[in-house]
Amino acid sequence: GKPSCECNTCYGGDDCSIFFSNCTANAESGDPLFLKPYWEKHAADSAVVVAGWHRMSYSTTGKNYITTELERHIRMLHRAVGNAVTDDKFIVFGAGSTQLLYALVHALAGSLNTSSPDSVVASVPYYAPYREQTEYFDSKLAEWRGVTSEWVNASKGSTNNFIEFVTSPNNPDGVLKKALLNGSLTINDHAYYWPHFTAISEPVDEDVMLFTTSKLTGHAGSRFGWALIKDENVYNRTLRYMELNTEGTSRETQLRMLKLYKVILAKLGGGKGDIFTFGYKTMRKRWIKLNQVVSLSKLFSLQKLPTSQYCNYFNTTRHPSPAYGWLKCEMEEDEDCDAVLRAGGISGRSGTIYSDDKKHVRVSLIKSQDDFDQLITKLTALVTHTKTTA
Ligand code: PMP
Repeated sequence: GKPSCECNTCYGGDDCSIFFSNCTANAESGDPLFLKPYWEKHAADSAVVVAGWHRMSYSTTGKNYITTELERHIRMLHRAVGNAVTDDKFIVFGAGSTQLLYALVHALAGSLNTSSPDSVVASVPYYAPYREQTEYFDSKLAEWRGVTSEWVNASKGSTNNFIEFVTSPNNPDGVLKKALLNGSLTINDHAYYWPHFTAISEPVDEDVMLFTTSKLTGHAGSRFGWALIKDENVYNRTLRYMELNTEGTSRETQLRMLKLYKVILAKLGGGKGDIFTFGYKTMRKRWIKLNQVVSLSKLFSLQKLPTSQYCNYFNTTRHPSPAYGWLKCEMEEDEDCDAVLRAGGISGRSGTIYSDDKKHVRVSLIKSQDDFDQLITKLTALVTHTKTTA
């Protein structure tokens, strides 16, 4: 049996077979375990064995803490998927894209040579660590200035000391986004720009782009992300940050990533072993199911996404399959939606965490199948029960 610490929170016992029906469905984190069954199917192909003497050194085959082969495979992957132009870009690896968020703020802010701190902004609803990191690291170079839209008119002509986070597709709502400010420097977080979650309509080609393995292969625990950077000065400043902070990412993580990307690349092409076929199918099924349950009543609504879009990767139209449901409570004014869901045995993340209102809650759709099934069970009960007693 599995150790009980490996059981989903609704199960216990030696082999996780005891179901606790009064447990809370946990739809909080963006832990991408929906991809675990894919890797279970390709367990032998994707295994890595590292001998004790291997990868001991600080040094790497490439410059700046990078394994040349891994860099080459990342570029191949972007080309094969068609989601980003990498030819004229430098690459910096980070311990997750989390480490690179602030490395990039710092690199961009310092590149402007302005006397006052640069303004860092994002569009609501946004991923909270953009604000949290900027405030916590509290550099003289950069200052959190809140919501992008508030600066669109206020700062006409003077947005060139702004650093704008643009998340596309967006976390939490899955919407494709563009920069709003003219002349701002942008950090384009494309964590979810993979065929699991969205149509690939064009290769993105911005000056600063961020990707992560967490939402690509699902290996969030490996802590591996990368930035694609056009400008050499910004690249050098990002490297300097990485040098002082960690001297680059773990060399054995890089080895494991190389193995995973080799497996993915060998199986691309829309067939059965294609990770994106698996990812899209899984996410699509979950999105359909969630919509069915939500549509049973008028209590909740979900974000609207384009019903069908052409995907260059799949060579056909595809339908929405976002990573998260952005649920809205439709009952009363000023409803605390998170409290409503919690009372129904569902823990999500309140809209307030994304600097939005409390009528919204993010529910994660990318966790394990058990987590998703429990969310659906609890939500079905909430929707049908509330309807009959109202
Ligand atoms: N950006 C966005 C938009 C995210 O949702 C996440 C993870 N939830 C990250 C960055 C960070 O991911 P990681 O550090 O695992 O690469």
